[in-house]
Amino acid sequence: MTNIPFMRPSLVKYEEYKAYLDLIDNSRIYSNFGPINNAFESRILNDYFDNIGGVTTVNNATSGLMLSISQTKRKGAKYAIMPSFTFSATALAAMWCGLEPYFIDVNPEGWEMDTEKLKLAISNLGEQVAVVVPYATFGNNIDLTYYEELHNNGIPVVVDAAPCFGSSKENIQFGTSFSGIVVYSFHATKPFGIGEGGLIYSADTKLINSIKAQSNFSYSGKRESESLGLNAKLSEFHAAIGLATLDVFQEKIQKRIALYNVYSEEISKYSLLDNGWCLQKTTGRIPYQFFSILCPPGESNNKYIKKLQENSINAVSYYNPACHNQKQFQEFIYTDLSITDDISSRVICMPFWEEMDENTIRIVVETLSI
Ligand SMILES: *Cc1c(COP(=O)(O)O)cnc(C)c1O
Repeated sequence: MTNIPFMRPSLVKYEEYKAYLDLIDNSRIYSNFGPINNAFESRILNDYFDNIGGVTTVNNATSGLMLSISQTKRKGAKYAIMPSFTFSATALAAMWCGLEPYFIDVNPEGWEMDTEKLKLAISNLGEQVAVVVPYATFGNNIDLTYYEELHNNGIPVVVDAAPCFGSSKENIQFGTSFSGIVVYSFHATKPFGIGEGGLIYSADTKLINSIKAQSNFSYSGKRESESLGLNAKLSEFHAAIGLATLDVFQEKIQKRIALYNVYSEEISKYSLLDNGWCLQKTTGRIPYQFFSILCPPGESNNKYIKKLQENSINAVSYYNPACHNQKQFQEFIYTDLSITDDISSRVICMPFWEEMDENTIRIVVETLSI
């Protein structure tokens, strides 16, 4: 039987960005916020954020999170509050900023940080809270109302929105108008993939300007570091791929939504949802990164992943282990994380790539179901 991989990322082809590479050959500007990067940023701000606020590109979302946390964290405070049900980059970025992750359980429906439990932690920790880092789980348009309030009341919020570029609700890009910071990833495995890259957004343009300087050794004007800077700039080559990707991104989103819908139809054909299987509760339009589902309560995803593997189908379980069960973060368990444990022991992320055909999806769901 032919092997069905988990992902087959397909970035724009050389022909689609060749014209931009010619521009680079002529300009001989290869990085440092060159003309291609600037055009990429302007187009994103205009086409996706309605020219509200500001954006700055970064070489990847992990350094974007580091810069954003470092720029906003409250001085002398210790904790970065975040869900454990996220990619390790969220917790690692906080640690690179000298903070300790403080994990909060997720909500059983949407799988995002439980804001009631978060409120309790904030009132317990008081001045020790340096920053709050919610994760918009699997590209979902999570509700930012409470986080906006929090940020405006002096507790900085940095949203890990790694897979959310292209996520929207009522035609508004996720994150638009948010006064805190939103970080998106352009890694090859994300819906908007350019190889390596990322984007930082805020409605606060002053904040974006200081992060932009910080991403270039914290130089602003003079060749003198004015704060703890980093080199986190996007190269002109990656920006070229980014510009070409903008031309085809809406088509890519449509393909991903269509695939998701085929998965949903197959799932209902086998009545999985009537038999204890469970989907994430989401809102808005999502450029799905993959199709994820929970196996019935009390069962383990390992069993199903193994069964798929035996049929040459590669599924994975994000995020299993969740952060608090990873060696690097095990000492940071302060709260009950039982919903996180339950979801991470049941979640299965199914094969997903843009040219996947319906028949392959049928085979995958059939193998899972029988
Ligand atoms: C992919 C991802 C990141 C890291 O993004 P990079 O651009 O690869 O650094 C961080 N957080 C989450 C939730 C992710 O999915």
